[in-house]
Amino acid sequence: MKKEYDYLIVGSGLFGSTFAHEAMKRGQRCLVIDKRHHIGGNIYCENIEGINVHKYGAHIFHTSNKSIWDYVNAIVPFNRYTNSPVALASDGRMYNLPFNMNTFYQMWGVKTPAEVQTKLDEQRRAEFEGLRGREPENLEEQALILVGRDIYELLIKEYTEKQWGRKCSDLPAFIIRRLPVRMTFDNNYFNDLYQGIPIGGYNRLIEGLLKGVDIKLDTDFFKQREELSALAGKIVYTGPIDQFYAYRFGQLQYRTVHFDTEILDVPNYQGNAVVNYVPKEYPFTRIIEHKHFEIFGNVVYNNPRTVISREFSKEWSEGMESYYPINDERNTVLYEQYHNLAVQESNIIFGGRLAEYRYYDMAPTIAQALSLFK
Ligand code: FAD
Ligand code: UDP
Repeated sequence: MKKEYDYLIVGSGLFGSTFAHEAMKRGQRCLVIDKRHHIGGNIYCENIEGINVHKYGAHIFHTSNKSIWDYVNAIVPFNRYTNSPVALASDGRMYNLPFNMNTFYQMWGVKTPAEVQTKLDEQRRAEFEGLRGREPENLEEQALILVGRDIYELLIKEYTEKQWGRKCSDLPAFIIRRLPVRMTFDNNYFNDLYQGIPIGGYNRLIEGLLKGVDIKLDTDFFKQREELSALAGKIVYTGPIDQFYAYRFGQLQYRTVHFDTEILDVPNYQGNAVVNYVPKEYPFTRIIEHKHFEIFGNVVYNNPRTVISREFSKEWSEGMESYYPINDERNTVLYEQYHNLAVQESNIIFGGRLAEYRYYDMAPTIAQALSLFK
C-alpha cells in the first residue's frame, strides 16, 4: 500500500530542514515533526524587543565552501557580521580574540610578528622540552605548545575548565585547535572565507527551507512511534541516537548550557556581540548581546533597549537540552556501539549532531544532508 509520505523527518533543525528541502525539490513528500513548539532546532531565534535572540546559543554561520554559502544565500541573503569576541582575562584586563597580534600586543607589548615570535619561542621552549618529542596528549599540553604559559593561564585555563567542567589536562587536545593563532592584526574568530548572519534572522533560513513541507510541532516521535512510522516509507532521524535504541548500551554524555536572558534599559551594554569571562569567580562563561549580530555601528542606539544572555555551562542529565557531545574515550566507544546498529537499518537515515553524536557546525550539517542526495 502506498504510504502518505516518502519521508518522516524527525527534527526540524538544519539537518532535517535541508533534507526536507532537497526531497521536496525532487517531488518527494515529507512530513517534518518536532517535539518543540517551533521549527529550526538550535538555530531558532525568538524576537524580543525587536531583536532576534539566539535562544539556544549564539550562532554565527561560517564556511569556506562556496557552494554551501551560495545555497544558504539563495534562501536568505546574509549580512557582513564577523565574529570578533573580546575576553575579560584572569588579570582583569580585556583582550582581543582569537590569539592574534592585538592579543600579543595587549599581553606583552610586542609590536611586530618577529617580536611575537621571539616571545612565543621563549614561552614555549620549556613546554616542548617537557614533551620530549611526543605529541601533546591533552588540552593543557596542546595550549602550552600553541601559545605558551602566559596566555594559557590568563585566557584559557579557567574558561575551559568552566566550560567543560573538567581539568584541561583531562580534555582532548583538539578542542583548543579550533581557535586560530595569527601573526596579523586580525580579530576575525574564524579562518573561513565566508561568514555572516541571515538578514532578518535564522528563522528565515529555516522557513525558506521548509516552505511547502508538512510540519507537525509539539510531536515527540517516541510518544507515537508506531503510528508516525507507519505514515512514511523511510524515516530521517535527527534526535539522540542512544534514545532511538532506548539507551540499551547506556547514555551518551553531553555538556549543556543554561541561558539567563535579560532585557536591559540601555541601548548598548557591552559594545560587542560576544564577551568571554575567563575568571572562575564569574559563574558564566560569556555574555551575548544579541543586537550586535544584526545591527552595526551607532544604529544600535535607535533601539533604547538591549537583550543579553549569560551562558552557564553545566553537566547534562536526562531532561536537559543536549548541547556539546563529550568526545572522550568512554563516549566514543559507546557511540560506536549505537552506530553499528544504525548502519544495519535499511529504512532509517540517521543524521545531524545528535544522531551522529558529533559537534557539527551549521555549514557541515547542511553539507552532510546534501551529500545524501548526491
Ligand atoms: P538540532 O538543531 O539540534 O535539531 C534537532 C531537532 O530534533 C530539534 O529541533 C529537536 O527538538 C528535534 N528532536 C529531537 N528528538 C526528537 C523527538 N524524539 N521527536 C521529535 N523531534 C525531536 N554552528 C555554527 O556553525 N556556528 C555557531 O556559531 C554555532 N554555535 C553553536 C552554539 C551552541 C551552544 C551549540 C550547541 C551549537 C552551535 N553550533 C554552531 C552548531 C549548530 O547548532 C548545529 O550545527 C546545528 O544546529 C545542527 O542541526 P541539527 O539539525 O543536526 O540539530
Ligand atoms: N577557549 C578559551 N578561552 C576563550 C575562548 C575559548 O580557552 O576565551 C577555549 C575553550 O576550551 C573552548 C575552545 O577554546 O572550548 C574552543 O572555543 P570555541 O569558541 O570554538 O568554543 P565553542 O563555545 O564554540 O564550542
